[in-house]
Amino acid sequence: METRFTWVGGRPSVDFTATLGKRQQTPFERIPEPADLGRWFREAGLAQDEPVVSGRAYRQAVELREALYRLFTGATDAADLEVVNRWSSRPSAGPRLTSELRAEYVAVDVLGLLSSLARDAVDLLTGPLADRIRTCAADDCSLLYVDASRAGRRRWCSMNTCGARAKMATYRAVD
Ligand SMILES: [Zn+2]
Repeated sequence: METRFTWVGGRPSVDFTATLGKRQQTPFERIPEPADLGRWFREAGLAQDEPVVSGRAYRQAVELREALYRLFTGATDAADLEVVNRWSSRPSAGPRLTSELRAEYVAVDVLGLLSSLARDAVDLLTGPLADRIRTCAADDCSLLYVDASRAGRRRWCSMNTCGARAKMATYRAVD
């Protein structure tokens, strides 16, 4: 059965870290196989068709994911920076101009997709929302999200799941 992905991060690079769930307990791998990563890219809207993912690209993707997770949670390690920079500085193909003067984008491969995830992370970590990257407040949830709310007091990955459970617990405590 296919695992469902979560999309609460607000940014592709943040959602990518959610492909490993329950980090504080028994980590749950949502992309156990290279093909699952291909599906993630399609469902994330980063690729129209599921790209074919080689075993090597898959391992590199997992390495990038873990480096991103550590950087998003405040750990700055030289090795992690190197991983992210290796991808973010990778040259990417620009659009082609057609005879109708339209921009045509060449199909991106997995390496190009990893590069765009790394660039998204650099943009996030150096942008106005850099200090708004948070971990869900629920004990058993390790999802990260970017709190883009005006007040910046969002506590849960989602009000439908962890937020709703916390609300229920508060009601019960009052009874
Ligand atoms: Zn949560």
